[in-house]
Amino acid sequence: MLAVGIASTLILLGMTTFYAKHEESTILEQNKRTRSELLQTTIYGLRALMLKGSADVAQNYASLLQQVPGLIEVKIMRRDGMEAFLDNQTIEDVNWRKGKTFFLPKETETSVQVLAKDDKYLQQALSMDAIVSYPSRSETGESLMNLLAPIGMSKSCHGCHGDEHESIGVVKLTTSMTPVYAAIEEARWRALRIAGIALALLLLLVWQLTQRMVVKKIQLVTEAMSKVADGDYTTEVNASGNDELRTMSESFNTMVKQLLKTYDGFQQEKNKLATIILSAREGMIATDENERVVLVNPAAERLLGKTAQQISEEGFLHFLDDPDYIRAFIDNNGHGIPDVVVFNNRVIQINAARICNQKGKVIGSAALIRDITEEKKLEEELRQISYTDKLTGLFNRRRMDELLREEFSRARRYGHPLTILLFDVDHFKKFNDTHGHDMGDRVLETIGHILKDQFRKNDFPCRYGGEEFCVILTSTPAPQSQDGCFIPAERLRARIEATPVQGLRVTISIGVAVFPHPQLKTPEEMIKMADQALYEAKHQGRNRVILAYNLPQFQETSPDALPQERS
Ligand code: GH3
Ligand code: MG
Ligand code: MG
Repeated sequence: MLAVGIASTLILLGMTTFYAKHEESTILEQNKRTRSELLQTTIYGLRALMLKGSADVAQNYASLLQQVPGLIEVKIMRRDGMEAFLDNQTIEDVNWRKGKTFFLPKETETSVQVLAKDDKYLQQALSMDAIVSYPSRSETGESLMNLLAPIGMSKSCHGCHGDEHESIGVVKLTTSMTPVYAAIEEARWRALRIAGIALALLLLLVWQLTQRMVVKKIQLVTEAMSKVADGDYTTEVNASGNDELRTMSESFNTMVKQLLKTYDGFQQEKNKLATIILSAREGMIATDENERVVLVNPAAERLLGKTAQQISEEGFLHFLDDPDYIRAFIDNNGHGIPDVVVFNNRVIQINAARICNQKGKVIGSAALIRDITEEKKLEEELRQISYTDKLTGLFNRRRMDELLREEFSRARRYGHPLTILLFDVDHFKKFNDTHGHDMGDRVLETIGHILKDQFRKNDFPCRYGGEEFCVILTSTPAPQSQDGCFIPAERLRARIEATPVQGLRVTISIGVAVFPHPQLKTPEEMIKMADQALYEAKHQGRNRVILAYNLPQFQETSPDALPQERS
């Protein structure tokens, strides 16, 4: 538009200037022609008057002409530049030629030198016998135009003025240029007005064309863009014409189709995600960058026993009612912070973290909450199963090894006494052979019940293997006297002996080992020690308790090495 405007303005200015110049020259030409005609008319009038011999009237005639509007001065000069009819020179010349007083001389004479005799314009007019014009200024500074026209002579003039010259004198006509310049000025303004109107019309036309050809189409695309921005991806722009705007419209339509495809894809993914989040068994809470809770799924409400609104109002850090814990969890990325807590009577596993965008800027936080109560229960059950002997319900050999290792190191670290009873059913092979294997199993079961019943929580009765058992006593008084550990062993032996199974009795032999003992460095050595006592019990006739440190191989033990007090 700007370029078209500038180009149009320049063209119109050029045309205006040309028109104004043309008008100016026309006016000047017209003016010149008018004055020349006036001059000619004046000369013809003058000649007519002079031929009639009315020279006096000619003088008045010149004076009267001066009253014509626009005429500043009319002067009739002789060839020498002197104003005619004011002195008697011409009258005398005529009278001399006629040889008589043809005209009476004036009584009073004046002389006015209108132009110098050798004035170049005067000489030009006389020599060229043509109208000469030249500009001048009045005393007030007004622009004037002077025209000099020779007064030609015909044959009838020769009688008075002779035939030496073709002209008798010169008429000088002085006109003001002010009205001419005013007319030129007016013509210029008129040209400018026309140019201005033409320019305005042209710009209006260009604007209209632009509106029709460009703006309307751009508007269509803009409106379509607004609709797309408002989420209406079905919008299409009617691609007409054969220009860049058509290409733009087609590109826009293609872009919207792609956008719709992507949007549909996103929508599907969003729906899937929403379904997953809503139906997930894991609780999910998410915040925006200002830590404002923006997502709480039903599972989170159920697990925490709070409504989404309550969670939102309390704030993200408070969903477990322990903001320091959640903050520490997030700050340490979960490292070194327990992720399993008991909340709302449920065992809950937490995972919480900050969410960052691709540039690493934090855009929110999220927490995943899993109810692992059942899992933990199952785990515990499995653990129990893996630790338990199926037949007797006691700890199995694997667990016994673990427990003994733990208790041995604890006893060594803290100086606690530790006792193990290792016992074996007497003549069990024979029992099985006599009463059947199932009956043997019943006996083993009964032994299991007795062990569980007899020993405290801190004692661990275990099945060592086959018909051999081991009881780890962590709270048995130290054997300052032999009774200390003998008593529970003897009580067990007596109870089993006194407990018939379907009327059948069995006995057991028990070997007892006690830590601390100078020869005990490992739990395996302790089992070995108890086994040697058990062996001795079998050897001495079965159904008895033997304390290992009474055996000769363990006798060198100094009583000082043993704890002095019973706990
Ligand atoms: P001792 O007094 O010397 O210990 O003689 P014993 O017969 O008990 O010794 P032995 O080690 O020769 O026999 C152990 C028997 O225990 C052999 C086996 O049949 C029996 N036994 C081992 N485990 C089980 C079990 O789980 N159930 C039953 N019913 N019997 C078992
Ligand atoms: Mg045995
Ligand atoms: Mg046996």
